[in-house]
Amino acid sequence: MEEYDVLIIGAGPGGYTAALRAAQKGLKTAVVEKDHLGGVCLNWGCIPTKALLESARHLNSLRKADEFGIRVGDSQIDALKIWQRKNQVVENLRKGIEFLFKTKGVNFFKGEATLLNKNTIEVISDSAKVQMKAKDIVIAAGSLPFELPNIKFDHKFILSSDDTLQLNRIPGSLIIVGGGAIGCEFAALFSSLGTKITIVELLKNLLPQEDHEISRTLETGFKKKGIRVVTGAKLEAVSLSENGVEASISDETRINAELILICVGRKANSPELGLETAGIATEKGWIRTNEYLRSSVDNIYAIGDITGRLLLAHVASYQAEIAIENISGKQRSVDYSVVPNCIFTFPEIASVGINESRAKELGVDYGIARFPFRALGKAHTAGETEGFVKLLIDKKDDYILGAHIIGPEATVLIAELTLAIKNRIKASQVVETIHAHPTFSEIIPEAIFAFFKKPLHTV
Ligand code: FAD
Repeated sequence: MEEYDVLIIGAGPGGYTAALRAAQKGLKTAVVEKDHLGGVCLNWGCIPTKALLESARHLNSLRKADEFGIRVGDSQIDALKIWQRKNQVVENLRKGIEFLFKTKGVNFFKGEATLLNKNTIEVISDSAKVQMKAKDIVIAAGSLPFELPNIKFDHKFILSSDDTLQLNRIPGSLIIVGGGAIGCEFAALFSSLGTKITIVELLKNLLPQEDHEISRTLETGFKKKGIRVVTGAKLEAVSLSENGVEASISDETRINAELILICVGRKANSPELGLETAGIATEKGWIRTNEYLRSSVDNIYAIGDITGRLLLAHVASYQAEIAIENISGKQRSVDYSVVPNCIFTFPEIASVGINESRAKELGVDYGIARFPFRALGKAHTAGETEGFVKLLIDKKDDYILGAHIIGPEATVLIAELTLAIKNRIKASQVVETIHAHPTFSEIIPEAIFAFFKKPLHTV
């Protein structure tokens, strides 16, 4: 039986990062993946959605071309090509991981892994069944779309996000159930491509985790684009109709559309892992871990979505780094207090640190630094003046506590604020830092100037 220092189950951003780091540390490493390299992130999540959104972004720019003095003919959408491009991007990146595994000495096995005990796994592939042993095991098995108990995916009309990414076409109308990040990104994508969208969200706001002003601004923008937003409403049932689906909503309305996409959350991808056999404690399928990412079994670590913490690719890879350091003898604990969150709608949304409700819960005496994109030169040159930056700043010592952005390049701008919050850089230090002109980054010092009652480009 082959023996390793570290065996990793799953090759998503958690698993493949762990594998590369372990091999880099000179550990004899193997990774087992039952589906495609890159996991959900590369095949069913971050990358394919952003590749499709990029096509939509180009289309939106073309629609505004006239404003910039460019006359283009009627733009036509080639849906198949949009999906083919997405597939090509995914394929290229998968090859990239395969190449990294080969060059960095990671042994890769395609097959389904099951734990037999705390040191042994069995891997079943199309052609063989093998057992492997390791000193330490890292479980990075990820998550799957959550299915409503009374409304099952039929993968034809009632779709999961995975199904939607394989559509290869643009539906005439689509009901999106779930107004979280995934639902809002699909709404932005398909409404740009011409689909009539209705979003149904159980809570009273879209993006319930985000700052309330940000989610309200997104909702207003969606409505302006013709997206119907139904909040505070529950999907009760779906029936198939002649032209697609009919959704019954708790407010007694019925909505008809060609397709319905249900993205109301994720569930742990744990049923086949043999967690019980190995004695690993779980909660609703998610693996319980301590601050060192150890499961209830000392030599078995869990990282990424399967830990049920923040279901984000960059959290999975961050946890991977920590788990491998701990396997190599360190005692590094996880810190989830400064995790950026990005939503790739039009305009983009990004946040990091705490929001106002949390600041109130903590009893912090905070002030708000705010600045609109429409007062920024760069925003005018780019023709993108929608949105604002809102920073929460501690009045006592001017540390930045939270940042919330809706607007152009929000997902890029958040990096500076993440660095500032993580490294306790004060607002007064950020404002002393020269930001290049004309760039969107100037919005950060502008907001802080306003906070210190020295606004430059606003009254
Ligand atoms: P996964 O990426 O889920 O990988 C787990 C892998 O383990 C899978 O490939 C699976 O096949 C394999 N596996 C499971 N069980 C076994 C077994 N028994 N044997 C062998 N292999 C096994 N996050 C962001 O940060 N930014 C985004 O923009 C973003 N967009 C998203 C959009 C969508 C539509 C979705 C669904 C998710 C998105 N996410 C995004 C979330 C992100 O994809 C996940 O947080 C991330 O993929 C989790 O990584 P992971 O390594 O934990 O698991």
